[in-house]
Amino acid sequence: MTESTPARPEGMSAVRTTTAKQVRPATEGWTQAKDAEGRPLLQFASPKRGKPPVHLADLDHDARVEKLKELGMPGFRAAQLEKHYFQHYTSDPVHMTDLPAASREELVGGLLPNLMTEVRRLETDGGDTIKFLWRLHDGALVESVLMRYTGRITLCVSSQAGCGMNCPFCATGQAGLTRNMSAAEIVDQVVRANRLIADGGLGDPRKVGHKDERVTNIVFMGMGEPLANYARVMQAVRTMVDKKHGLGMSARGITVSTVGLVPAIRKLSAEEIPVTFALSLHAPDDHLRDELIPVNSRWKVDEALDAAREYFDKTGRRVSIEYALIKDMNDHAWRADLLAEKLNARGRGWVHVNPIPLNPTPGSIWTSSDVDVQNEFVRRLNDAGIPTTLRDTRGKEIDGACGQLVATEEDQAAAASV
Ligand code: SAH
Repeated sequence: MTESTPARPEGMSAVRTTTAKQVRPATEGWTQAKDAEGRPLLQFASPKRGKPPVHLADLDHDARVEKLKELGMPGFRAAQLEKHYFQHYTSDPVHMTDLPAASREELVGGLLPNLMTEVRRLETDGGDTIKFLWRLHDGALVESVLMRYTGRITLCVSSQAGCGMNCPFCATGQAGLTRNMSAAEIVDQVVRANRLIADGGLGDPRKVGHKDERVTNIVFMGMGEPLANYARVMQAVRTMVDKKHGLGMSARGITVSTVGLVPAIRKLSAEEIPVTFALSLHAPDDHLRDELIPVNSRWKVDEALDAAREYFDKTGRRVSIEYALIKDMNDHAWRADLLAEKLNARGRGWVHVNPIPLNPTPGSIWTSSDVDVQNEFVRRLNDAGIPTTLRDTRGKEIDGACGQLVATEEDQAAAASV
């Protein structure tokens, strides 16, 4: 799997001083699905499965009122249900004493059906990180991870059950796409997390210093490719930021992360919702990125970076470049320099880089970079004028990397059924 060939492609300007080791991406213990031409299969369309029940978070306010009228109930009850769900984080009719007892069950059944059941909950970091495994109505499994930091609470949400992007290093990529999640299934992850926080279930509230705590930041970095489920993700985001009829969160606190679906990035730039945009680049050269992020076969590094720059131009929001540092694969000094070159070629002040040590499996070809290599990578980018901060990894002990918990659960279920 390792080669000692010169790593930097011919014709690049920087001088290569050492012959860097180059490990090439390859799957271990599973086989990547391939298309007819032998390239990693990309699944953009969601397989058809039974749809989850319609929930108020799938609808805008007017459609909620309409739905109630269809059910023969007064439209003004929509605002009451919104309050229970988005402000009190409850879908339990027992708590809805402002609603007539006789129609409570029916109202809840009509607009607040149960969407997911908790299968497992794992805690680490002294209770500051909690990972949830949820079962959706059709048995599909998804994860979310709740993390308390000083001054903020971040929830990492899933946008699809599984993922069709087939990245060889990602645990979610291995099983393919099960289906798109509905907007309400996405929002419900936030509401359920807020419920747990309100119940005092997340670490020590004194660290943040106020009561009425809730999730302040969302990252679409759980399972799935959010831009491959564009309409539902956007409906979920609109509900998250809606001050009157939703969760009233700040758009800036919401990060949409993508492998680089260029047309969808352009669409996102045109929405008037200033979410934070993150591009999972992981390699500055097409030669490596073609293997690491199979969607690179459609949209190359330069196209993805142009679209990211355009996002900044349209929104004024500084873009994040995600870069998982993988030992001897993408962590070479020349790659840091090439990345800096490509970013600086598109202007200054529009981007920052977030390298993150790969969630490691020691001995695998997928191992996180050595600490001095990580530091050198970060130093070179910073020296080139690109603000770069190494992201900390949370929840390693609880299979924090997206998809790992579902994979474990499916293995166990498979083991139990033989
Ligand atoms: N599909 C989207 C969002 C989900 S993944 C995307 O690719 O951006 C969220 C981030 O976690 C991505 O940057 C992804 O590349 C990264 N990731 C996946 N597996 C990882 C692992 N084992 N270690 C570190 N980062 C990982």
